[in-house]
Amino acid sequence: MSENQWNQQARKVLKGAQQSNVFFNTQAFTEVKFSIKIPLEYANLVDVNNPNDPLLRQVMPQVSNDKSDYSLSPLQDEDNSPVDGLIHKYPNRVLLIASQVCAIHCQYCFRQNFDYTQHDALSNWPEIERYISEHQEINEVILSGGDPLSLSDGKLEKLIKKLENFQHVRSLRIHSRSIVVMPSRMTTKLVEILAKTRLKVVLVTHINHANEISDEFSKNIANIANATLLNQSVLLKGVNDDLNSLKALSLKLFEVGILPYYLHMLDKVEGAQNYFVSDDKAVQLHQQLQSQLSGYLVPKLVRDSGLSSKTWLL
Ligand code: SF4
Repeated sequence: MSENQWNQQARKVLKGAQQSNVFFNTQAFTEVKFSIKIPLEYANLVDVNNPNDPLLRQVMPQVSNDKSDYSLSPLQDEDNSPVDGLIHKYPNRVLLIASQVCAIHCQYCFRQNFDYTQHDALSNWPEIERYISEHQEINEVILSGGDPLSLSDGKLEKLIKKLENFQHVRSLRIHSRSIVVMPSRMTTKLVEILAKTRLKVVLVTHINHANEISDEFSKNIANIANATLLNQSVLLKGVNDDLNSLKALSLKLFEVGILPYYLHMLDKVEGAQNYFVSDDKAVQLHQQLQSQLSGYLVPKLVRDSGLSSKTWLL
């Protein structure tokens, strides 16, 4: 797949409630603060005859009046940002906000209110370069966003080359949902960039349901040969909060060469109330999963706890 073909696909997107209602033959989409954005490559995987389709539910705003303990920024990422565009929570690694853009808008996203204009790693590079140089304990850089793979191949390559200049940085982790919801993103050039960097690459996909794993994605991910492939999911009511869905997801991930890594509890961002799954139910599901799958197919059940870290629920 060329970058040109990807760019063409990237323009094929449903935007807003009206286009989405027409495409999915429903009236259920409404305009909300976090705008609706659905790539056609993802939309085409939805069963339009199923109003409860698990893929549809992730992109359809779920209106709720319960504001109790939900906030605009549940993880307070901004408080862990010593330099704009960089988040430093754990001693050995930093996360860079490499892009403000996502191929899709997931309505449960905890960063949906994040101030991306202030936190853009590329436009604040001199400060970031100074910070990483001064912190020799950093051996891993995580590219996040938005979605770092919404950067062009050229920009991504330049950024990776800059990171290679830090001799103390050994690993590059890339968090991406784009390559799943828009498999055309896995261009030949991207595969080449990841293959030739001196950094050890860990590619963490964000897949919540087995139905998201299309034939094209399966074919393309097989081309990424020298990276460790892991997946993180969010436990979402009506999407994957049942044993069969979680089991099918782990098995399908393994089939395409990805190991289930994290199953995240929902971060309580305003607008995501109707995706909430209780701790009791999550723990019960996780125990059932453990009894039915080999250990390496069971993701860790975790909750991000803002300032410090992740909490293991099990
Ligand atoms: S792709 Fe990731 S960052 Fe973007 S909206 Fe979805 S969950 Fe949020």
